[in-house]
Amino acid sequence: PLFADSGMQWHKSVCRFCGVGCGVMVGVKNGKVVAVRGDKFNTINKGHLCIKGFYLHKVIYSKTRLTHPMIKKNGKFEKVSWDEALDYVAKKFNEIRKQHGPDALAFYGSGQAETEETYMANKLFKGCIGTNNMEGNPRLCMASAVGGYLTSLGLDEPSGTYDDIEKAELFLLIGSNTAEAHPILFERIVRHKAKNPNVKIVIIDPRTTPTDQVADLHLFPKPGWDLAILHAMARIIIKEGYADEQFIKDNVVIKGNDKKNMTFEQYKQFLEKYTPEYASKISGVPAEDIVKAARLFGQAKTAMSMWTMGINQRTRGVWANNLITNLHLLTGKIGKPGSDTFSLTGQPNACGGVREGGGLCHLLPGHRKVANAKHREEVAKVWGVPVKNIQPKPGKHTIAMFTALNEGKIKGIYIMCTNPAQSLPNASKYWKGLKEQFVVVAESFFPTATTQYADVVLPAAFWAEKEGVYGCTERRSQYMPKVIEPMGEARWDAFILRDLGIRMGFKKEFEKYQTAEDIWNEYLTLTKGRDMDLSGATYRRLKEVRGLRWPVPSEDHPGTYKRYVKGDPIFDELPAEKKKGRWIYFYGKPEGKAVIWARPDKGPEEPTDDQYPFALTTGRVLEHWHTNTMTGTVPELNRAVPKAYVEINPEDAKALGIANKDQVIVETRRGKLKIEARVINRPEKGTLFIPWHWEEWMANVLTIDAFDPGSKEPEYKVCAARIKKA
Ligand code: SF4
Repeated sequence: PLFADSGMQWHKSVCRFCGVGCGVMVGVKNGKVVAVRGDKFNTINKGHLCIKGFYLHKVIYSKTRLTHPMIKKNGKFEKVSWDEALDYVAKKFNEIRKQHGPDALAFYGSGQAETEETYMANKLFKGCIGTNNMEGNPRLCMASAVGGYLTSLGLDEPSGTYDDIEKAELFLLIGSNTAEAHPILFERIVRHKAKNPNVKIVIIDPRTTPTDQVADLHLFPKPGWDLAILHAMARIIIKEGYADEQFIKDNVVIKGNDKKNMTFEQYKQFLEKYTPEYASKISGVPAEDIVKAARLFGQAKTAMSMWTMGINQRTRGVWANNLITNLHLLTGKIGKPGSDTFSLTGQPNACGGVREGGGLCHLLPGHRKVANAKHREEVAKVWGVPVKNIQPKPGKHTIAMFTALNEGKIKGIYIMCTNPAQSLPNASKYWKGLKEQFVVVAESFFPTATTQYADVVLPAAFWAEKEGVYGCTERRSQYMPKVIEPMGEARWDAFILRDLGIRMGFKKEFEKYQTAEDIWNEYLTLTKGRDMDLSGATYRRLKEVRGLRWPVPSEDHPGTYKRYVKGDPIFDELPAEKKKGRWIYFYGKPEGKAVIWARPDKGPEEPTDDQYPFALTTGRVLEHWHTNTMTGTVPELNRAVPKAYVEINPEDAKALGIANKDQVIVETRRGKLKIEARVINRPEKGTLFIPWHWEEWMANVLTIDAFDPGSKEPEYKVCAARIKKA
């Protein structure tokens, strides 16, 4: 109504920021986006937006938009035509490929790219150039969740959806500052609790955050020392009779860390060590709080665990994921309304484009793997490339990729829609490779920490300037229309890749794509019959609805609320002899069963010691997002939080003579940072916290690049540090 007579046109779209996937209405007037409001018909956010979503339109017109292709000549960027830029990149890439082989090239993408964009990169690099050196920043944020789901349940991505929030009696928020990182989901939890006072919220997190406003119980483990708590909770759940032994018998196998099967009795023996007192000694959490948390979990009829980077960004992130899921499998709180083990995603299309679309070095589209010969054949056929082009061996994961760049084993890299010079852990270690090798950056913003190292920058269309699909945390794919023309000469990433492919000699493979829908339709054929079947989610359908949750195997299918149970097309189509009267059917090994894992309780890679006595952790604030290339351009958000700071507990600050707003030096074994101190009762004693958004106060020069051996996800969330007054 505010704009009723203003000639404004409103278009249904999706927020560009976090993985919640809120629906937005984009207000366009005179060819410009002038406003954004929440889409009241979108079931995710029901018209609400957080402050970042509210100011999204301002990002489009930021002064830092990159509007022309540029090539660095004699150390300075010069504007060039698209033809010159793409010819140059194609020539350099072909030379590198000819001289050093396909694995001397790499692609590094993003959970912010549309599925169509990642699809084109996948085809160009894995299908045509012939290298699996294709990664994306979701490796840095959710690979451990993928590993957790695969090893615990057999298939990736959550079994439930956001609809479970309003049905849950208990929330276990672990390693998640939901209020700031996933604000609209937090709002749904708060509203649900307000209407249902019996709903309980248990938080396990080393730091007090705004999420605490609604907590019934908060356990503060020392950063990285929470695995023992989860085992202790499992032990109490069994000892006090909250385990659903029939559910376990029918649906679960128990395995030791050596993958050998264990009996329930043996598992109980394994857990015997994890008394509340033992877990308390390891984690620093009072034993009685661990008992309380276990009882709340056990007593609730339904429970939803939600976690994010505090669990995933760990050298034992997969194990941590497994141990959370153990609690659900022990109590049968999975597959039922209000009960789910639910990893929250940081980026808007990390699930859609990268997990489902296969944008990592071991994956192919449709939850397929490069190591699987049948999968390679299926994909090669649809791509129209010889199957031998797709290598069976996974390429280099993110840290290995940037290490190879440092070592000169990778000589050319195409970086799309992400800012690794700032976002990699132990970031400064990887600047060498970026400086020395041939670097192409396709970006909407300039400069960024990464573009300074580029040899070529390619201006990319941003959000409302292009159409495509995003898939959010709850398996929902949503269509975004192009509602304005791109700024300057910016172009859609998918077509930049198409035209680069044609110039590199893959004309037949790429010239057929004339529209975004051409790409999406081809991708859909690769999802047909897969667990994440999207073949019914055509553009025609997606334009009509507020997204569809896969599996959605036909155009008249409503999408799937719960996986593994009745209503999941895969479950429904199982032969009767497989189901044998079962109401839930997992895909672990043996098929049909989920796995309870008896994992060791290893702590962080770099524990604190006399030299570095503080545990440093990093995270987000509500107003900013990732490396600030977007939110940093919005005056209102900048005014709210203009700079970085290090939070230190008042007791620690007093002992070190540090006052609020003092400049301090935070130092780790990898680097140091001069930054303002915020003396505040948020981190526990012995813990420091830095929000990581700013290039000027780059927290990632401090973080550690040790990674989980399974998921290869780095341990951003904890390293040892020291602090002193500057
Ligand atoms: Fe956008 Fe996430 Fe905020 Fe929703 S919660 S408006 S998706 S940033």
